[in-house]
Amino acid sequence: MKVAIVANDRVETQAVVKNLEKLLAAKNLEIDPENPDVVITVGGDGTLLSGFHKYVNIIDQVRFLGIHTGHLGFYTDWRNFEISKLVDNLTKKQPSTASYPLLELIITTGKGEKKKLLALNEATIKRVSKTLTADVYIRDQFFESFKGDGLCVSTPTGSTAYSKSLGGAVIHPRLKALQMTEIASINNRVFRTLSSPIVIAPDEWITLKPEADDHYVVTYDGYEFNHKHIQKIEYRISQHVIRFDKYQHTHFWNRVEDAFIGHDEEV
Ligand code: NAP
Repeated sequence: MKVAIVANDRVETQAVVKNLEKLLAAKNLEIDPENPDVVITVGGDGTLLSGFHKYVNIIDQVRFLGIHTGHLGFYTDWRNFEISKLVDNLTKKQPSTASYPLLELIITTGKGEKKKLLALNEATIKRVSKTLTADVYIRDQFFESFKGDGLCVSTPTGSTAYSKSLGGAVIHPRLKALQMTEIASINNRVFRTLSSPIVIAPDEWITLKPEADDHYVVTYDGYEFNHKHIQKIEYRISQHVIRFDKYQHTHFWNRVEDAFIGHDEEV
């Protein structure tokens, strides 16, 4: 089995990485950053996102394991002091895997060129200096004309990230659904949007057609695609999934409670 490590550059993370490398070497597990079977990330959910984008081109081949150096994350199951158990499990146990849906977006530029991207959390579209005006279609049927700062389409695992800050619902990652949330829509006598997040079914897709020929920023998981003249963007659930080794697993709602509510140890 070949392993790759993706880590953030914090000092405490680097110490965990050194220890992890030693443990992997002791078990004769090869480190292969080019063609791994398993990607171990050390850091937070943001580090897992960068690991996903680093290996997105071989997403069907790789499985992920997330070690968190701070708080329990949504993509990170292992605490830094459990890495010896993690490496043991890698050599001894055949893991079951948990698969989560990915968002596919296909951007068609003004010249008709197509750019396909995958996101693990979400994708947003914003216009740089002016209000975004875009027609929204669901299954190619006109739905609404949006005017505002932008729109966000998120995966179920991304529903606890940016989408949540935009008032979106938290969605269990076993549901294959996409959620669209508005970013500061304008609603008055002239412009009207639904003004609520929507969740579409697995066989549905959303298409956005920005009105003006202008400079748009499309973000996906903290990465950026800048383009002048975007004809349309189609959002759908990808045929690909991200797979996590499930040696130990924290219940999704426990993660949500831990991240956003928390319990005082002592009252
Ligand atoms: P980042 O520093 O990598 O991440 C920003 C924060 O989002 C970090 O605290 C990160 O947790 C957390 N996060 C990432 N994925 C999450 C998930 N699925 N559920 C809950 N929290 C999650 O920042 P970035 O590189 O700019 O963008 C990465 C992500 O940040 C984006 O995909 C977006 O979802 C999120 N973001 C949120 C807002 C907002 O809420 N207003 C605005 C912009 C971006 P860790 O500390 O564990 O890494």
